[in-house]
Amino acid sequence: MLGLMQNQPLLISSLIEHADRHHGDGEIVSRRVEGDIHRYRWSDVARRARQVANALDGMQLLFSDRVATLAWNGYRHLELYFGVSGSGRVLHTINPRLHPEQIAWIANHAEDQVLCFDMTFLPLVQAVHARCPGIRQYVALCDEDRLPRDSGVPNLVSYESWIGGQPTTYAWPSFDENSASSMCYTSGTTGNPKAALYSHRSTILHAYAAALPDVMSLSARDSVLPVVPMFHVNAWGIPYSAALTGCKLVFPGGALDGKSVYDLVEQEQVTFAAGVPTVWQMLLGHMKQNGLRFTALKRTVIGGSACPPAMIDAFREEHGVDVLHAWGMTEMSPLGTLCTLKNKHLALPPAEQMKIRLKQGRAIFGVDMKIVGDDGQELPWDGKTYGDLHVKGPWIVREYFKGEGGDPLVNGWFPTGDVATIDADGYMQITDRSKDVIKSGGEWISSIDIENIAMAHPAVQMAACVGMRHPKWDERPIVAVVKKPGMDVSREELLKFYEGKIAKWQVPDDVVFVEAIPLGATGKMLKTRLREQLKDYKLPSA
Ligand code: AMP
Repeated sequence: MLGLMQNQPLLISSLIEHADRHHGDGEIVSRRVEGDIHRYRWSDVARRARQVANALDGMQLLFSDRVATLAWNGYRHLELYFGVSGSGRVLHTINPRLHPEQIAWIANHAEDQVLCFDMTFLPLVQAVHARCPGIRQYVALCDEDRLPRDSGVPNLVSYESWIGGQPTTYAWPSFDENSASSMCYTSGTTGNPKAALYSHRSTILHAYAAALPDVMSLSARDSVLPVVPMFHVNAWGIPYSAALTGCKLVFPGGALDGKSVYDLVEQEQVTFAAGVPTVWQMLLGHMKQNGLRFTALKRTVIGGSACPPAMIDAFREEHGVDVLHAWGMTEMSPLGTLCTLKNKHLALPPAEQMKIRLKQGRAIFGVDMKIVGDDGQELPWDGKTYGDLHVKGPWIVREYFKGEGGDPLVNGWFPTGDVATIDADGYMQITDRSKDVIKSGGEWISSIDIENIAMAHPAVQMAACVGMRHPKWDERPIVAVVKKPGMDVSREELLKFYEGKIAKWQVPDDVVFVEAIPLGATGKMLKTRLREQLKDYKLPSA
C-alpha cells in the first residue's frame, strides 16, 4: 500500500518561490566588484531569476544544458543559481583561482554554452575564450554602460541588457527531481579534475539538513554571511538554505581581507558566517590589531581545512562567538559532519569541551559514515583506531560526471581519501589524508602536477611534492628533487620553471634537493617516509 501524500518533486524553483511568497521583503546585501553596496529583497531575486529563465529559453537552451559562472558571491550570481537550475538547466560554477588552461579544460569538458562572469575575471575570459568554441554566449555581470566595447570577447552582452527586456513572470517547469541541477569540479582527486553533478533532490535534502539546529541552525532571524565562495560547492549550500529559511543574506563580493569582512559583519549585523580558516585568520588579525569587537555575530562554521585550536579559542574567549567545526567535500554537496556538543557534554569543564570541539563532528542525518582498515573491514568507534573514512547518503556522489575515473564506490560507500577516528559518541576526527593532494587556503594543489612540471626540467631525475604546515595557509607545497648525475639546477631556476604552467599560488614555496626519494616495494614514492625525513624542515614563508 502506498502512502496517500501528494507526490511533488523536490525542485530548486520551489525554494525561490517560497522565499518570494513568504520572505519577499527579506534583505539581500552585496558588496559589488565596483566597491559599492547593493541592496534588494528576496522578491527581487525571484523576479530577476524568472528573467534569467526567460533569457535562457530565448536562446533555445535545452533541458540539462550547462550555464557556467566565473563569479564572486553576489546578488546576480544568486539569481543565476535559481534561474538556471529552476528552468531545468545545469549551473556550472567554475573556480576562477584555477589556471586559464584548467578553466578552459573544465569548460570544454562540461560543454558549457553560456559563461556569465564578473568583470574582475574579464582578463581570464579573454585568455580562454578562443579555446572554448562551445560557449556561444558571454554575459558580463554588470550594467550595460560598464560593458567594455573592445574586449575581444565574442558574443558578449551585459547581464542587465541580457535579462532586462525579459518578462518577469515564468512558469517554472516540473520534472524528475533526480535531474541534474548544478555541477562543481574538484581537483581533490588524482588525474584531471572531476565533476560532482548535483540533483534537485540532493540539493533540497541538503538544504533542509544544513538548516537544522545541530548543523548551521539557520532561521528567518539570521543575517548570514557566506564568505565561502559560491564557486566552491555552492557556498556550502547556503544560498539554498537561505531561501528555505528566509534569512537575510550578506555577500562579500571579492573583498575578503580582514577589514572588508569585519566592516560588512558589523554594518549588516551578521549573526552567522561561514568560511575556511584562512579568511577568519585575516579577520581575527585585523580585529586584534585594531582592538575591535563583534556586536551581533553569534556563530561561525569553519571547515574546508582543519580549524586550528587557537582560532576556536579566539572566537569563543575573546569574542563570545561559537565556532562550529565542519567537515565535508565537493562530492558531498558538501556537508558531512558538524561539531556541536550533546546535552551530556554541557556540564564538562571547558578544557574537556574543547577536546570535542576540535573534532570534525557528528554525522548529519542523511550521511552515514564508517572507518575501514586496509582489508576493507569496518574498524571500531573507540576514538583511537584510525582508518579510511567512507560515507554514503542521498547528497553524496555515486559517480563523477561522464563516468570519469570509473566507479568511485566501494561496496556502495564513497571513500573520502581522508583518514579518521570515530569515538563512541560518533564524533569523527580527521587524522591524515590518503589522497595525494595539498590544500592551501581552502584550495587544492595537485602534487602530481607539481611533480610532473619539475620532472620536465632537463636537470631533474625525480621529484616528490609534499605539503608542509603553514600558519596562514594551513598547508603549502614544497618539492623534493633529485638532480640528474652531472647536471645542475638552482632552487630559483626551478621555481621560475613553474611560471605560466600553473597558477601562481600553486607554485611550490621551496625546492629541497635530496640524494634520493624513498620508494616502496612497487616503486611508489613513500610520501610518509619523505615527510618524516623532512620533519625538521621549516618553510621559508612560515
Ligand atoms: P573540497 O572537496 O575541496 O571541499 O575538499 C574536501 C576535503 O577537504 C576533505 O576530503 C578533507 O581532506 C578536507 N577538509 C574539509 N574539511 C575539513 C576539516 N574540517 N578538517 C580537515 N580537513 C578538511
